[in-house]
Amino acid sequence: MSDITVLALAEVLKVPVDKLISQLSEAGIDVKSAEDSISEEAKVSLLTHLRKTHGREQLSLSSPKKISLKRKSQSELTLSTGQGRSRTVNIEVRKKRTYIKRDELEEQAKQKQEALDAETRKSKDKLKSKREQQLLSEEDAIKPPEETLPSESVSKLDIDINNKPKKEDLDTSEIEAAESLTQEEKDKEKDKEKDKEKDKHTESKDEINDLKLAKEEKADKEEQKREVKSQEKTKRQKDQSKSRQSRKDHTLHVAEGSHIRRKKSRSRRSNLNINQESQHGFEKPTSPQVKEVIIPDTIIVADLAQKMAIKSNEVIRVAMSMGTMITINQTLDQDTATLIVEELGHIPKAQSDSGIEDELKQSLESDVDDVELKPRSPIVTVMGHVDHGKTSLLDYIRVARVASSEAGGITQHIGAYNVKTDKGNITFLDTPGHAAFTAMRARGAQVTDIVVLVVAADDSVMPQTIEAIEHAKAASVPLIVAINKVDLDTADPEKIRNELSQQEVISEEWGGDTLFVPISAKTGEGIGDLLDSILLQSEILDLSAPHSGVASGVVVESALERGRGPVSTVLVSKGVLKVGDILLAGHEYGRVRAMFNESGGSLSEAGPSIPAVVLGLSGTPLAGDNILVVPNERKAREVAEYRQNQERRMKLASHQSSSIEDMFLTEADKGRKYLPILVKADVQGSSEALKDALGKISNDEVTVKILLDGVGGITESDAQLAIASKAIIIGFNVRADSSARDLIRETKLDVRYYSVIYEAIDDVSTIASGLLAPEIREKIVGLAEVKDIFRSPKLGNIAGCLVIDGYMEHSKPIRVLRDNVVIYEGELESLRRFKDDVKEVRAGTECGIGVKNYNDVKSGDQIECYDRSEVPRSV
Ligand code: GDP
Repeated sequence: MSDITVLALAEVLKVPVDKLISQLSEAGIDVKSAEDSISEEAKVSLLTHLRKTHGREQLSLSSPKKISLKRKSQSELTLSTGQGRSRTVNIEVRKKRTYIKRDELEEQAKQKQEALDAETRKSKDKLKSKREQQLLSEEDAIKPPEETLPSESVSKLDIDINNKPKKEDLDTSEIEAAESLTQEEKDKEKDKEKDKEKDKHTESKDEINDLKLAKEEKADKEEQKREVKSQEKTKRQKDQSKSRQSRKDHTLHVAEGSHIRRKKSRSRRSNLNINQESQHGFEKPTSPQVKEVIIPDTIIVADLAQKMAIKSNEVIRVAMSMGTMITINQTLDQDTATLIVEELGHIPKAQSDSGIEDELKQSLESDVDDVELKPRSPIVTVMGHVDHGKTSLLDYIRVARVASSEAGGITQHIGAYNVKTDKGNITFLDTPGHAAFTAMRARGAQVTDIVVLVVAADDSVMPQTIEAIEHAKAASVPLIVAINKVDLDTADPEKIRNELSQQEVISEEWGGDTLFVPISAKTGEGIGDLLDSILLQSEILDLSAPHSGVASGVVVESALERGRGPVSTVLVSKGVLKVGDILLAGHEYGRVRAMFNESGGSLSEAGPSIPAVVLGLSGTPLAGDNILVVPNERKAREVAEYRQNQERRMKLASHQSSSIEDMFLTEADKGRKYLPILVKADVQGSSEALKDALGKISNDEVTVKILLDGVGGITESDAQLAIASKAIIIGFNVRADSSARDLIRETKLDVRYYSVIYEAIDDVSTIASGLLAPEIREKIVGLAEVKDIFRSPKLGNIAGCLVIDGYMEHSKPIRVLRDNVVIYEGELESLRRFKDDVKEVRAGTECGIGVKNYNDVKSGDQIECYDRSEVPRSV
């Protein structure tokens, strides 16, 4: 044992000399200067003194030591259950032997952390004090008060490193260093000359200090974790934010060394430790984010996933777990989507029926709001009583103004045309009469700006004249009266003025506000004046529209045309419609493939009031349907499908009500039979004509009832409706699609295809009259699908086909179908297998087909081969 100077001791202890001197004097050791030597006994008494002081301080402190005690209490709990695992006991013992250095830096960091955690701690205080009390009492029972652990427990690994017997938990660097020094001096006694030994020891001491620091930091972290965890049980959401806060705070403490060590020891850690670490490593929400998901009538899987901010795969997985196989682009109905959303823990909210439409309107409004308005041509509808000259007037203007303005142009009837005059342009709707006008209005389309009321000067105001006035008034559209046929001797314009004044249509000459123009649609007299009057009226109306931006407007007319598919005439009311735009038109949609004007000239774009024939839609929208350019095909499809569903629902509802009516009728009219019929045709006109004509067929016993009339191929749901209502299906220039064909075959549904209206009417009336005379019926003998088109210099276009049903026979007539609609009827020019002409090709075989006088067959079309034969009547 050797003495040491105060200076040397202060250096070893890493404390200022002054402080050491004051501590020594406090301990009752008399030292005057730094050069004074201190005996071994003096050192021991200093140690004892410091221990006492710090032991007292320790007791009075309420710093976060309690967590380690809590861990201890957990071990004790394990013991109390009677399972008595020796491993648990070992951990406890090791903990007790751990000593941790609490230096100034740590204290500062702790204070900072405590300041940041002030709020968190407030709520925890109660819990802490409870634990503290508990722990202190436990501590008292196990060991002397000065052995209170300065901080919480450390991991097994840490414990192993610091497992030094007989070293009681000390609290300060001074005590620890003093002890180290005692140890050091013992070593020195053994080999005083070896300075190396001392260096080594200092190094190892530093290492230990580092580890201790890391341990303490880690212990602090664990304390926080535990606290958070315990609170999670009671208040999950509150704790989420707190735990985040505490994590943030911890970044102040985490030493680089501890990260490295953590990595190294990861594999050796218990599951508990791994979990705790992962909580620290990632900002992972502890509770799921519950969203309110608005679900429209139909929604695409990808969109639904987006609304919930999850991956589509997750939606698909949930749907699969519910027993439904879906794909990312599949459209889900509202019910299915609701179930999926619920399953994923979100709150589904059904979108109101008009929600999807409102969304569209809003996007449209926001798009064109800030666009500058420019004048546009007025849109005019010609109305009047039958034979008063509406068609003649429209024809005259078209021929005189449109055809002449386009060199060599042949005007076509497209439902509307634009006339150029010196004073401006006028767009005429080419469908005279108030039926078209009201049909459009019924769909909410206010297309017409001005009504030209045609009244024949040789006649008088007639019922339809009055109706037209009423319609114009109801729609608040100004009238211009064209007194027609003034070329006739019998013309009496004054009489017309008089009669119209009784209908409150008073001419300007008579002090009213309606323009009257005498004209002759035959000679063209006064037509220029009429056009001037229209432009004058339009000036008063101050018609304007945005001439740029997203296009919206109205469908004027549409039909399925042979070789061109669905063709629609549209009138843009706002913005500009361009080729390539994705257009939503009623319940149809598609990319605008091409556009034409009334002279057949192609258009690249169409602005407000310019009628344009649009190619590329999925089907034929109805006159008066709104058109709208939408950002993508997916959106267009979503809305179109929504509208189709709505329409189908309405049709079904009306069908149900008609069934109820039928029941009442049958009740009232016993013995009377009904012949239910479904009509599907290629164009609206044909379907309406058939509906009207067939609906009128009735005799004493049988009444024909049209359950449904529509445009397009016969679908599976049409077939189902026919089965349910025991109806026959009339397909006029349309065919059943493949799924409907299967159903028809299975159920032996009566489906009849026609291409001549009177034949269909004849047939139905014969059925209704119950005549069983033989009839000429068409039988489809084969169907081939066009796979590719080859050009042959000799034979023209050759369709490379695969016969998918029945057989193709060279001598039999054929029809070309596109989307189940007949687009051409004719005969075969050639039927070949490889390079040989053949008479017949059977199902499952490939062949080359040349259609006579028709070169527009496309890949994907179908060619049917049919036969006309006499068959006995089945009804
Ligand atoms: P709509 O039923 O109103 O469309 O009337 P139309 O345009 O079909 O005309 C009915 C008949 O009146 C036709 O025979 C026309 O030739 C005839 N017509 C139309 N306008 C005039 C006209 O200004 N003068 C004469 N003389 N006949 C006319």
